[in-house]
Amino acid sequence: MNFSDFNLKKELLHRLSEIGFEKPSPIQEKAIPLILEGKDIVAQAQTGTGKTAAFGLPILNMLKKGEKALIVTPTRELAIQVSEEIFRYGRDLGIHTASVYGGSSYNRQISQIKTSQVIVATPGRLIDLLNSGRIDIAPKFVVLDEADEMLDMGFLDDIKEIFKFVPNDAQKLLFSATMPKEILNLAKTFLKEPEFVKITTQNLINENIKEYCYVIDEHERKDALIRLIDYKAPSKAIVFCRTKRDVDDVAEYLKGIGLNASGLHGDMEQRKRETIIRNFKTNKLDILVATDVAARGLDVNDVSHVFNYHLPLDPESYVHRIGRTGRAGKEGMAISLVTPYEFKALSKIEKISKITLKEIPTLEDVKNTEIKKIIEKINNIDASPKSIEIIEELQNEFDLFTIATKFAAMLFEKEAKGKERIGKSLKEAKRLIEREKFNSSNSNSGRRNYKNRNQRGNRYNRGRRR
Ligand code: ADP
Ligand code: MG
Repeated sequence: MNFSDFNLKKELLHRLSEIGFEKPSPIQEKAIPLILEGKDIVAQAQTGTGKTAAFGLPILNMLKKGEKALIVTPTRELAIQVSEEIFRYGRDLGIHTASVYGGSSYNRQISQIKTSQVIVATPGRLIDLLNSGRIDIAPKFVVLDEADEMLDMGFLDDIKEIFKFVPNDAQKLLFSATMPKEILNLAKTFLKEPEFVKITTQNLINENIKEYCYVIDEHERKDALIRLIDYKAPSKAIVFCRTKRDVDDVAEYLKGIGLNASGLHGDMEQRKRETIIRNFKTNKLDILVATDVAARGLDVNDVSHVFNYHLPLDPESYVHRIGRTGRAGKEGMAISLVTPYEFKALSKIEKISKITLKEIPTLEDVKNTEIKKIIEKINNIDASPKSIEIIEELQNEFDLFTIATKFAAMLFEKEAKGKERIGKSLKEAKRLIEREKFNSSNSNSGRRNYKNRNQRGNRYNRGRRR
């Protein structure tokens, strides 16, 4: 299936090819035609599957002059991201987008709302503006994006409040990575005979994959990644990141320390992406740093290691990511870095996987395995006429021991570096996880807390959003 099968306006099709979207993703394939028919929908698909375009494209296609679309997202980061993404798709249609969130000037946002046809807002600020009568929008389309996240953050009442301002005949779309009962109830209350669309990934965990996770502090992520790369010596690896910014950042860092790595994400030029993928397939590139979506459809059989730089937020993405290794009967390894802020995601993943908690090897551990590997290499290699010639030549100047140590030093050119210890000990990691379990089973007011913490300003968002 192609985007042209949807009968989209030529301005949109043209933009899509410029941006480098070749084919609709599965959720786009299912959702776009229904939305274009005017149906209310409830759509479920994991993070990174292209939900923004799934609702953005048909809305842009249908939005007439003077009409408005309202998209509600849980966080300010997402509001900005979705707003930018939709502006990018609709650029040639001349449709402006506004992002509306707390902690920023009212006046600017109000004037942006007036001149924009697509308004992407977080619940709190939107309610503020609506209740105080400072804006008056009667949207033709309403999207609840990441609905599960909004409920988790305690925004249910706010959402109900927002719907009071939505005209009855508006088309309403609800997108979510998971579909808990509360979301279905929400859909029942506010949507009109919605169609349900669901994209599932198979929860089949491959027996050939070993799964390990390591508990660290946020500031240790890069050191931990490098230590584990040094220790595991992957022949071919994918490092998954949540955001494009992380992809750039991690790829640059790995390159900086001399690893053969490259980033891959949707903002890169199509030609460049193709080259990177080809290099990865043909073993010219050892480490690919990618977002979930950029790596989707990447068909490579001999990936030895998958690294999760951050844990994905939902278990389905996890399964999807680690499925990149251990293919075609080969052994694979999946390695996840986890901070205490990700324990919630970890506990979901633990339920469907066989992930084991581990301790990050010390610098000494790495050096010892390096020595072992070099000894093994020397054991397995035979002398050649050329090598004999070199030794004979060197013997004019050095004794054999000196010559041998010089050669060994040559093999050690890229010696592992860094702190002796990185991350939590196994004991400490277990203690932290137990504590988290205890805390979450004892707090019924957890949801409200999230919301308050989030509004305050705000550690919750920082580490956790794409
Ligand atoms: P979700 O909301 O499901 O988490 P997003 O809408 O944020 O996913 O999309 C994730 C990334 O995938 C974005 O960078 C987007 O540009 C890219 N993307 C979306 N649809 C496609 C497509 N059909 N082909 C290639 N990339 C896509
Ligand atoms: Mg999204």
